[in-house]
Amino acid sequence: MAARDHTIEHLIEQLNRLPGIGPKSAERLAFHLLRVPSGEALQLARAIEQARAAVKTCSRCCNLDAQDPCGICTDATRDTGMLLVLEDPREIARFEAVGYRGLYHVLQGRLSQLEGIAADDLTTGLLVQRVRQGGVTEVCLATNPDLEGEGTARMVGERLVPLGVKVTRLARGLPAGSTIAQVSASILADAIEGRRTLS
Ligand code: ZN
Repeated sequence: MAARDHTIEHLIEQLNRLPGIGPKSAERLAFHLLRVPSGEALQLARAIEQARAAVKTCSRCCNLDAQDPCGICTDATRDTGMLLVLEDPREIARFEAVGYRGLYHVLQGRLSQLEGIAADDLTTGLLVQRVRQGGVTEVCLATNPDLEGEGTARMVGERLVPLGVKVTRLARGLPAGSTIAQVSASILADAIEGRRTLS
């Protein structure tokens, strides 16, 4: 059998690098993109290009937005004394939907021995710096209620408590092992309302 064209192989390899896309799915997607009208396939390429060019990481909270500082950090109507610490910027929409009106800090991940992610790989240093600058009265650790999320909350909490800021954690009402992305809006709202103080 003749070898497949190397540009097709390259496309499959690139798709295979995406999270959750195995070799079979990558092959299926590649052949789909080569079969549809060229304009349709290129729309995807253009959307990636445009989003990558427009979206920045907020230098204050590490949210992703078209502006830096982001729209939330520059919103004068928000409670600037309250920080909600998240693993992933995708979770911001969930807290916005239940009416949270403070600011955020995105860690850009969680501690994971398996994936080799250590404290220094997260944005904890930037968070400590923000709290040291003053103006923050409470930091609520809203990492996921699973083993790695709890470990991450503990590590971040240990760094913040000596700074004299009030450190809280989402209430235990979140089902253990669930993720913030999965729980219902009412459970999430209750978890913020019933948050407990760690320091
Ligand atoms: Zn921001």
